Amino acid sequence: MTLQATLGLDEAAARTWDAIAVGAGPAGALAAHELARRGVSVLLVDKCVFPRWKVCGCCVNGRALAALRSAGLGELAAQRGAVPLEGILLAAAGRRALVPLRGEVALSREALDAGLVNAAVGSGTSFLPETQATLGKAGACTRTVLLRQGERTVDVEARVVVAAPGLGGRFIPGETPRAQADSRIGAGVVADGPPEFYVPGRIFMATGHGGYVGLVRREDGRLNIAAAFDASFVKQEQGPGAAAMRVLQQAGFPAIADLESLAWRGTPTLTRRPAHVAAERVFVLGDAAGYVEPFTGEGIAWALGAGVALAPLALRAVRRWDSSLADAWSQRLRHTVTRRQRVCQVTATLLRRPSLLEGVVAVLAFAPGLASPLVHYVNS
Ligand SMILES: Cc1cc2nc3c(=O)[nH]c(=O)nc-3n(C[C@H](O)[C@H](O)[C@H](O)COP(=O)(O)OP(=O)(O)OC[C@H]3O[C@@H](n4cnc5c(N)ncnc54)[C@H](O)[C@@H]3O)c2cc1C
Repeated sequence: MTLQATLGLDEAAARTWDAIAVGAGPAGALAAHELARRGVSVLLVDKCVFPRWKVCGCCVNGRALAALRSAGLGELAAQRGAVPLEGILLAAAGRRALVPLRGEVALSREALDAGLVNAAVGSGTSFLPETQATLGKAGACTRTVLLRQGERTVDVEARVVVAAPGLGGRFIPGETPRAQADSRIGAGVVADGPPEFYVPGRIFMATGHGGYVGLVRREDGRLNIAAAFDASFVKQEQGPGAAAMRVLQQAGFPAIADLESLAWRGTPTLTRRPAHVAAERVFVLGDAAGYVEPFTGEGIAWALGAGVALAPLALRAVRRWDSSLADAWSQRLRHTVTRRQRVCQVTATLLRRPSLLEGVVAVLAFAPGLASPLVHYVNS
């Protein structure tokens, strides 16, 4: 069911907000929830209609679930029908290894993100979908955000802006985030009626020469497919569907009917390093604050963790802006998110070597427990 706006554009412009959160993904929606439940007036805007689908592996790890619990939303995933995951079947060059998982679930992004927006609204946040936000000037006590719906644009004032516009989002003017030169690109789709091989409760990770494809059954039984590919490989295979078919074939997983003709959606390059994660009265979080390839499936945990971590700083900024808050946010992100991203990046980079990857799968086939330290690290 479509989530309705809780106010109109003119109403949004008629008052000064304590906080405006831009982007209603996990980072923006949870930050909004955290601020609203502390009694701050919050406007949450997103350019999309909600629920909205996005390219994602839909695996919500133990760390993400812990972030939800810490925000008082420990029941959210289960209430939305999340499917517990008992293992990940890794495949390379026809070899397979089943690595056990515990405390991780699969949940569609439509369900997760709509649940977070509902929770934010429930704690007092005002929600404005189908609204594009652009950052305006800093005033003495507020920051202007321009909100556009169709042809209409209004100026809205807020004491703090929480910017969570995602991987491709550009919000701070003049800021051009850097991407790694050999960065892969993402692609995803949802398939109906998948082969029975792709059972619920398991992640299927097919790896091949041009990238990898993760498959998991969602709470509605449909198969979520998310991939990271070399851009040259997608070009060579003439599209992400054909590229995914090739990787499934290389890995030795069953083909999926009509995969090439499904409505695939792509992403920008999968690495992002912005020069700044804060500006005057603005805090950036989630993918927009830095991203690495999603091999270990941690982006939702990083986004939710940042949403929780930001609240105390944003609250101080609502009371009185001080430029040291920008430095404090940069440091906090470095200590919490950036460090963990390095582990994910090193894993993804190492596994780009086909012979190494095949060796890892061969070893894990006999001793899956060897993956436990990484599985534990990712989830805790
Ligand atoms: C191929 C792939 C597989 C992945 N698999 C997993 C996985 O299995 N598990 C996991 O944890 N993570 C995974 N991730 C990562 C995960 O999807 C992201 O890290 C997560 O969605 C980040 O949340 P976010 O809130 O920062 O941004 P998003 O979820 O992208 O939300 C940003 C929102 O901002 C809105 N927006 C953007 N600009 C504006 C604007 N100017 N005005 C208004 N609204 C705006 C967008 O409409 C969007 O709704 C994967 C990513 C990819 C690409």
